[in-house]
Amino acid sequence: MSVRFSCLLGILLTWSCAPTAPPIFPITELEYPSSLNVVRRADWGWKALQDTIPQHTISRITIHHSGVFFPEDKDPVAYLRHLQEWSRTERPWMDIPYHFMVDLDGVIYEARPLNYPGDTNTTYDPTGHALICLMGNFEEQSVTQAQWNSLVNLTAYLARTYSVPLWNLKGHKDYTETLCPGKDLYQYLESGELQKQVRRILEQP
Ligand SMILES: [Zn+2]
Repeated sequence: MSVRFSCLLGILLTWSCAPTAPPIFPITELEYPSSLNVVRRADWGWKALQDTIPQHTISRITIHHSGVFFPEDKDPVAYLRHLQEWSRTERPWMDIPYHFMVDLDGVIYEARPLNYPGDTNTTYDPTGHALICLMGNFEEQSVTQAQWNSLVNLTAYLARTYSVPLWNLKGHKDYTETLCPGKDLYQYLESGELQKQVRRILEQP
């Protein structure tokens, strides 16, 4: 074998056998005020992205419920891990369909990175929407005081960070045929109470 051929073979073997590094996808990491009780993705066992979809820019905030009755003794972290697995295997989604999930104690969990649009089983286009989902089925159960406080504070934080006008703060059912976010939660959007409480925070210096 000539020297030149063996070198070429060596280069080809090295190239084809080299371990491929996992892809790195851009993720927007947010700075939260200490008043927000946020658990970051890395702290609840979120698994890294395997693929992505085109990024977007936030111009709306849309409120959801998870749509499944959430008992007080259910473990929210186990639920999140299962939801991520389900989203990636049973649904054709890159991740959990929502950006933030709020448990009954008002703990806010980061879910899908905010720089990627969410997903939906319904017909609206979530591009440009920051999606906040409260755990529970608010056709059957009531929003807890802790969930409400976190919803108001998180919505205000996102509205301020992305300059979202409050007329773009809506519920899922404002965009398509669905019960989401459930009547006990939707009443606060319909009455303007959520917008009022968020505005009160935004008007603070
Ligand atoms: Zn929804």
